[in-house]
Amino acid sequence: MSSVGDESSFHQEGALILMSGGQDSTTSLAWALKNFSEVSAICFFYNQKHSGEIEIAEKICNRFNIPIKIQDISFLKDLVISNLFKGRGNVNEGHELNSQVPAGFVPYRNLIFLTLAAAWAGTLKVRHLVTGVCETDYSGYADCRDVFIKSVQSTLNLATDFSDLNIIIHTPLMWLSKSETFRLAEDLGCLDIVLKETMTCYNGDETMNSYGKGCGRCPSCILRKKGYEEYRSKRSHS
Ligand SMILES: [Zn+2]
Repeated sequence: MSSVGDESSFHQEGALILMSGGQDSTTSLAWALKNFSEVSAICFFYNQKHSGEIEIAEKICNRFNIPIKIQDISFLKDLVISNLFKGRGNVNEGHELNSQVPAGFVPYRNLIFLTLAAAWAGTLKVRHLVTGVCETDYSGYADCRDVFIKSVQSTLNLATDFSDLNIIIHTPLMWLSKSETFRLAEDLGCLDIVLKETMTCYNGDETMNSYGKGCGRCPSCILRKKGYEEYRSKRSHS
């Protein structure tokens, strides 16, 4: 697994980014553009409440002039339990399968996303996947942990054995706090886009706040707001 700054050997290669239109994937996209010669994106529609993020993802990719594939996997709602799907209950409650996990958790989401992204990467003849998952502000999402990502990378390569095209998953935000992710966006020159355009809110609320768009109440907004306040406070003291 790679962290920020050690990608110099991949500068001549292309990468595929898993894009959601949120803060983390947008910052990871800017990071990928700095570390790879060519970047393309894939974004999934899975009947999420905040499906407005797809339009935002397209807009952000257009702005960076990179191609984006929008893939419909809305059948997911027929298979797994999550309040993140349209028409389901409150995302702030505990999950039906484990009350310690937020109700907005979508079981197997990142496993499915990464598997489908790897499939598309093979078609594009690209071996690098970039995803904005992060373990630092761990909120009970098992599929955001580093150990999970390492395991998926091994599994994907065991499933194919493509040799030169064996998948490498890059997670530039894995060990960053939300505050540090804001700082990275500033360093990469995409902070303005993160604040004005990205959508991270689980309720898809487009109310504009100092930390960006959101309802201010869902777990994602609370984390983003706290991170932005920490980032601002560190900036004013540096
Ligand atoms: Zn929200």
